[in-house]
Amino acid sequence: MIHQISVIAFDADDTLWVNEPYFQETEAKFCGLLEDYLPKHTASQELFKTEMANLDLYGYGIKAYILSMLETVLRITGNTGSPEIMHKVIQYGQEMLNKPIELLDGVEDVLKALSGHYRLVVATKGDLLDQERKLKKSGLEQYFHHIEIMSDKKEKDYHKLLKNLDCAPAEFLMMGNSLKSDVIPVLGIGGHAIHIPYHTTWEHERIDYNVEDPKFYKVDSIREILRYLQK
Ligand SMILES: [Mg+2]
Repeated sequence: MIHQISVIAFDADDTLWVNEPYFQETEAKFCGLLEDYLPKHTASQELFKTEMANLDLYGYGIKAYILSMLETVLRITGNTGSPEIMHKVIQYGQEMLNKPIELLDGVEDVLKALSGHYRLVVATKGDLLDQERKLKKSGLEQYFHHIEIMSDKKEKDYHKLLKNLDCAPAEFLMMGNSLKSDVIPVLGIGGHAIHIPYHTTWEHERIDYNVEDPKFYKVDSIREILRYLQK
């Protein structure tokens, strides 16, 4: 049981709803577009390289992804990519932005069980407009006291969030699917963190070491977090 928690923050993408599989679907289509130029696997690596180079400039989210796909097309094709290819890329991005929201199993039950007992918060990266739109479409807005759309999830970003919420680190619990973004920086500032792995993780969010901390917990599904919390 985790005691003295007042704020519970949830990551959104691949914690509350499906996200990464949509990026993977788009990436597969993108690599298919460039088959005449590069093997699919290489095109995928080139796209990742562009995304990483642009991260500081554009931040996270679908709009940044569209720009990185376009830039990758130009580089791979030596600036000879056809307007049809560029048009397809924009279309793929817009399709992603218009996807319906698919909630993960158990999410709404857990939020229902916890609301009224804790201040519930969404703490997510990504485009402001896109994340606001997803939250609205999700029907989950009513459960949250505060929505924080963060440009990054480093220790300094969590410090800022806790200051806004007027919450001490020891009273803060974050949960999400990324050890790198949702767990390690939160433990670093003295908060509690629960890892809820998702079946697939973006390469940028992967880490290959074990987390050991008395304030760290791991569950297989979001329903299990209720075991650690008083209701
Ligand atoms: Mg996530």
